[in-house]
Amino acid sequence: MAVVWSLLALLAMAASPVEIVPDEPGIGGQDVPAWTKEAWQADGDALLAVSSFDGSLQLSVGQVPFTTIEADEPDVARVNVATVPHGQLSLIAHTSLEEQAGRIRIELIGDGWQAGSDKARHLLRQNLAHEIAHLAQKQRYDSAYELAVLHEGYAEARALDLLIDAKLWTAADVRLARLGFEQSCEAALRRGPLLPQIEAGDREASYACGALLWIAASERVNARPDVLHRSYAKAVRQPAGLGPWARETFGPDFTRSAYMFLTANYSGGPQTALEGLAAGRL
Ligand SMILES: [Zn+2]
Repeated sequence: MAVVWSLLALLAMAASPVEIVPDEPGIGGQDVPAWTKEAWQADGDALLAVSSFDGSLQLSVGQVPFTTIEADEPDVARVNVATVPHGQLSLIAHTSLEEQAGRIRIELIGDGWQAGSDKARHLLRQNLAHEIAHLAQKQRYDSAYELAVLHEGYAEARALDLLIDAKLWTAADVRLARLGFEQSCEAALRRGPLLPQIEAGDREASYACGALLWIAASERVNARPDVLHRSYAKAVRQPAGLGPWARETFGPDFTRSAYMFLTANYSGGPQTALEGLAAGRL
């Protein structure tokens, strides 16, 4: 039976390349830049293979320059992009309501997207990989109850592996991204305990510190974040399952460190917190 399913999965992957669905021209009336379609088609197979999705992954790319977006999804804040300066890039990507159907929607904002610059490709690919990680996450369990630091942190950490596997990023890109996580997370730690910031929706505390938490946990057991996440998804059906799973997987010291990382006040020594998390001695 398993063989039949694997064959079906292979057929589905072969028959359904990543499909790019350009949106209607944005409110500003500009078309989606052609270079974005080229990038996805060239790299689509690799992305599809590593996302282990059911064979249909649709990307919808829209461009909304210099105007105000009224978000039609509940989890996307209303964004005023009228302030994006000339030549600048801003991006909103989400999987929200349509994630079950394998759809990702990306909004490109600002006229900096017109040319396929290195910076533009870098940002677009990182966001795409992040959203693909969410799709796989959603397939594994209902993440509605999950703390943002675990949910967004996993997507950030997993994105780095997806980008390397799909040859969209180099090892140097990944090192820079990790440095960025450290700087952002340090800034959050300097403000005080992370948990209240995460609950208040702070982006640095959830995304950057969450990514470092998943990376530290993965390195602790010498597994990639995706492998660790499969085990997590099976074991942690309810929030109460998190502690027992963590103690069994990482041992009591690392689990305690992770808890301290999220709850204690390291405003006087944020670097100590990052080093202590990685070493499991907070
Ligand atoms: Zn996300």
